Amino acid sequence: MTGRYVRVALDHPLDALYDYRYTLDTCAPEPGMLVRVPFGRRDVVGLICEVNAHSDVPAGKLRDVSAICAACPPLSAQWLALAGFAADYYQRGLGEVALPALPQALRDPSRWARLLAPEERYRLLPAGRAALPDALPARAQALRRLAQALADAGELDAAQARALHPKAIATLEAWCEAGWAEHECIEFGATGRATGSNAANTAQSETRDPREAQVAVEVPRLSDEQAGAVEAIGAAHGFAPFLLHGVTGSGKTEVYLRALAALLAREPDAQALVLVPEINLTPQFEAAFRTRFATALDDEAIDTLHSGLAEGERARHWLAAHTGRARIVLGTRLAVLASLPRLAMLVVDEEHDPAYKQQEGLRYSARDLAVWRAKQLGVPVVLGSATPSLESWWQAEQGRYTRLTLSRRAIADAALPTVRLVDLEEERRRGRASFEGLSGPLVAAMKARLERGEQSLVFLNRRGYAPVLSCDACGWVAGCPRCSAYVVLHKPERALRCHHCGWESRIPHSCPECGNVDIAPMGRGTQRIEEALASAVPGARVLRIDADSTRRKGSAQALFSDVHAGDVDILVGTQMIAKGHDFQRVSLVGVLNADNALFSHDFRASERLFAQLMQVSGRAGRAGLPGEVLVQTRYPRHALYHALARQDYVGFANAQLAERRDAHLPPFVYQALLRAEGRTLEAALAYLAQAADALAALPVAQRVTVYDAVPLTIVKVMNVHRAQLLVESQSRAALQATLRAWQPALRALRGVLRWNLEVDPLDI
Ligand code: ADP
Ligand code: ZN
Ligand code: ZN
Repeated sequence: MTGRYVRVALDHPLDALYDYRYTLDTCAPEPGMLVRVPFGRRDVVGLICEVNAHSDVPAGKLRDVSAICAACPPLSAQWLALAGFAADYYQRGLGEVALPALPQALRDPSRWARLLAPEERYRLLPAGRAALPDALPARAQALRRLAQALADAGELDAAQARALHPKAIATLEAWCEAGWAEHECIEFGATGRATGSNAANTAQSETRDPREAQVAVEVPRLSDEQAGAVEAIGAAHGFAPFLLHGVTGSGKTEVYLRALAALLAREPDAQALVLVPEINLTPQFEAAFRTRFATALDDEAIDTLHSGLAEGERARHWLAAHTGRARIVLGTRLAVLASLPRLAMLVVDEEHDPAYKQQEGLRYSARDLAVWRAKQLGVPVVLGSATPSLESWWQAEQGRYTRLTLSRRAIADAALPTVRLVDLEEERRRGRASFEGLSGPLVAAMKARLERGEQSLVFLNRRGYAPVLSCDACGWVAGCPRCSAYVVLHKPERALRCHHCGWESRIPHSCPECGNVDIAPMGRGTQRIEEALASAVPGARVLRIDADSTRRKGSAQALFSDVHAGDVDILVGTQMIAKGHDFQRVSLVGVLNADNALFSHDFRASERLFAQLMQVSGRAGRAGLPGEVLVQTRYPRHALYHALARQDYVGFANAQLAERRDAHLPPFVYQALLRAEGRTLEAALAYLAQAADALAALPVAQRVTVYDAVPLTIVKVMNVHRAQLLVESQSRAALQATLRAWQPALRALRGVLRWNLEVDPLDI
């Protein structure tokens, strides 16, 4: 075993690999294996990238690998290449990409043994729930605690149980004998079952009944367009990017399901990755997938990966993908970095959604990485959307992506909704006042829906009660002491809250400046509209869904179920309600306050607004009820609203692309942003100015343009001042080379708290 060296990636901002001596006799080291190594005074986890016979590091300086994770199969060369690409492209070190991509439990060597061993678990059965803990002697307190823990969590693993009671295992076995509990042994790499804590995942538990597998699943007859799309995907050879452009409700999911079914039938070992933009959409998808594949795949073969999973679950699900047991992995953006050794197809649903862009740490685009993975592996990737991103649309226009179009709704009598603009100026001129921001036509339309037992949905992208609290007498406005921003009034919580840093205070009774008691909320958020709806539409059951009403785990799911069950007449909410949901009884959508986004300084604002309004409009009339969308606006002649009224994505996209081309904006140029955060704005700007000088001195920088450093719109957050510098080029390669060469200078410069470099930024 002498003369063996491993080169290891560590989660460390320097883009270097570190050599260690390998003397363990646990197993032979291989690239892709995890090790524990000393680094400075700590022990850290590293990923082996190379195994060498020699090392250039002097023997006296080399340290030894202290442990290796032998039970976990090594990450493949392809996965290492993916991490390597992401690191290069997003200007990070390999270890900074690779290690955070692994589940937390795998990055903790003390948990390796337990994580990778078969797991013994005890699950409480209904008989046990009824009998325990009353059947236990009152004095047996430790046993009662065990019973209580089992009842609370629904299940316990052996280690948890032992920690509660020394004889826990014998006791639990006795309870199994009595029919109160059941014992299961989950092998390494198995997904395991839903635990008590995520019982809200009803989709998963519903399909557990073995009888259900016998029932033939009802599979709809494909429309001609759907059939054409499925056929094209199935006929693809090698790398084949598809842009599935299907209007809302056109049955894109059905296309994914059929394409996946064909793949799994053709290649018995193949794996597929399906990405959705939002965690709240995973249960709906998971249910559809489990039902459809109930006979073809066993329960474990469908796997989910998202940030809502508990750590242990996440690790088990990740391992199921890594070992190939999971055949279809359904997840949010982080799943794009999952290890999938037999990956043969990728799907990105709602590919335009900004949620695919990670906004901190490694600022990657999951959609772009999905396309890269497909290219690397030579497999198809399907990007689906009713409103594709202009980047993807442009690829299709150039013929690089194959466009598949679904132009009609899938359900026979479901038509696209009609869009009507409510001119707020006109309403006012005619003396028809709105009530608390709700126009007469919108209120009348909601009342009509209520009478017919149909549902309405009111969309506005602002949570809280009112965005501003101010004093008419002296002009005081409630601001955050730590940020350059107003604080938002939250009425049910009786608080003023900063949406940027979380600062909170009580609502003052009078103006802190002049003592005036008539301080008034200005503007409207979802809470205020919720309140207004209750009096504007008497008798309606109003439900609000936004980040505030869904803070607790599982509550979003519960609220959405109420809507699906018909327990709600009017649903009001932010973009959370706009996406993907297949509401069956919604026949009216009202849009409030959309005008703000028309005049944003961000060149992507109109693309985003249009996509959002098309999405939210798409919630209406999905199941045969004629759908109507009312948009309240002061600018009824705006081109964006006209395109919306015609449901004309293509016209809108082409007009936008023409504008972007004239203005030299993406996708016609490539951009990167350097952001700096300092104690003062001057410090942040000075850092950026020096960085710009350093860049100008680089020989590779000839083909990039550097703009002046500017403060961010919200310049101060948490007492930190922020500024940014935009760098762009017509050539992606030139931009990449420049950014790489720039890094040493950026690291050497001082004077700021933090800086980061974002490639392909979405918010400028
Ligand atoms: P999208 O994702 O394109 O907005 P969905 O996939 O949610 O649309 O499909 C909308 C509805 O149409 C769903 O209720 C789905 O079950 C139904 N559907 C899809 N394809 C068909 C078909 N070929 N025939 C009948 N109904 C279909
Ligand atoms: Zn005042
Ligand atoms: Zn703040």
